[in-house]
Amino acid sequence: MQNILTMESKKNIALIAHDNKKPELLDWVVSNRDLLASHNLYATGSTGAMLIEKTGLALTRFASGPLGGDQQVGAKITEGKIDFLVFFWDPFQPHPHDPDVKALLRIAVVWNIPIACNRSSADFMISSPLMAQQYERALAEMIAR
Ligand code: PGA
Repeated sequence: MQNILTMESKKNIALIAHDNKKPELLDWVVSNRDLLASHNLYATGSTGAMLIEKTGLALTRFASGPLGGDQQVGAKITEGKIDFLVFFWDPFQPHPHDPDVKALLRIAVVWNIPIACNRSSADFMISSPLMAQQYERALAEMIAR
């Protein structure tokens, strides 16, 4: 039984920000544009539209978060197709899709993917030497393939 999933040097990165956090995510993406451009990028609907418009980066867009985008990202994590999550969620405002947000964060922990929920975490993670290397991601016994 194999309970390692190899993350390639080119990572599949999902970018999500709640509305009040979109300016902060945009600023972070602009600061790290060249590095991010060397990976495969994904985003929920409105976050993705903003990033495409303001940065010109190529990315795959899912539905908007409140319409199921967070669940789509979670499904891709489960399929092993997203291996890195930057999610600037808003700690000061409730959202109609809070259960989806919680489910996404849970599934990211289940699959042991790196998760950055604020800017300093994102800064530390993106500057890690592991970003440019393969990484053997350990999976929990119960999801060993
Ligand atoms: P959005 O969704 O990118 O469509 O705004 C993000 C979210 O609310 O989870």
